[in-house]
Amino acid sequence: MIQLKSKRELDKMRVAGRHVAEVLKELARMAQPGVETRAIDQEARSQIRRRGLTSSFLGYGPGGAPPFPAVICISINEEIVHGIPGGRKLRQGDLLKLDFGVIFEGFHGDSAVTLPVGPIPEEAEHLMETTRRSLYAGIEQMRAGRRLGDVGHAVQEAVEAEGLSVVRDFVGHGIGRQLHEPPQLPNFGRAGRGQRLKPGMVLAIEPMVNVGGYEIQLKSDGWTAVTADGSRSSHFEHTVAITESGPEILTRAPAPN
Ligand code: MG
Ligand code: MG
Repeated sequence: MIQLKSKRELDKMRVAGRHVAEVLKELARMAQPGVETRAIDQEARSQIRRRGLTSSFLGYGPGGAPPFPAVICISINEEIVHGIPGGRKLRQGDLLKLDFGVIFEGFHGDSAVTLPVGPIPEEAEHLMETTRRSLYAGIEQMRAGRRLGDVGHAVQEAVEAEGLSVVRDFVGHGIGRQLHEPPQLPNFGRAGRGQRLKPGMVLAIEPMVNVGGYEIQLKSDGWTAVTADGSRSSHFEHTVAITESGPEILTRAPAPN
C-alpha cells in the first residue's frame, strides 16, 4: 500500500530533506586525502545533534542484519553501498560515496552523493557523471500519470548507453514515516509498466552504477556491498515528491554561498 502524503506531511518532509542536503554539503568538504571515514561519521553525528534531528540509519537492521553502527554509509571505489565508517583513510583518486538520512518530526529524508577525492581517473569521472545524469533522467520521469517502469527505464537507458551497468540487487523506495516504504523503485525496467505515479507519493530514487558487471557481493561485516568483479561503483540519491506540477527534489543541494 503506497502512502500518499498530505500537504502537512509533505512540509515536514521538505524540512527533513533540506537538513539532509545541508549536512551532505558540509560533509562533502571532508572528501580529502588522509581523512578517516569515522571522522565523517562523527561530524554527521554532531550535525544531527545540533539540528535536533534523529538518524535514519543508526541501529537500522532489517531481516537479521546486525544493527547499522553509524549515522552515515560511507562506501569507497568498488564498494557500492552500505559501507561502515571506520579507520580507513581516504586516498587521492578514491571515489567516495556518502549516503545519509535523518528524521524530522517523524519523517525521513534520504540522499546520497558520489565525490572525488582529489583528481580521479577518467574512468571514475565518467562513471560518476553518468550516474549523476541517470539520476536526473529518472527524476524527469517522476510525474503524475507516468509509471514506475518509465523511471527505471530512463535510468537504465542513460547508464547502458555509456557502457556501464545498473545494480539489480538494490532499488529505490517509497519514503515517509518509514525509511523504506512501498513501492520499490528499480533502476531498470520497461517503459509503460508498473504502478502509476500520483501526486502525494514521495520516492527515493537511487541509481547504483558499476563500471563492470552489475553483480554484487556482501562483505563479511554483513553490510558492505561490493562489485563482484572489483570494478568501481557510483551512487546518487534524491528524495523526490510527485506533485501536480512535476517532480520536487526535497534533498536538493543548497545554493553555493
Ligand atoms: Mg540512502
Ligand atoms: Mg534510500
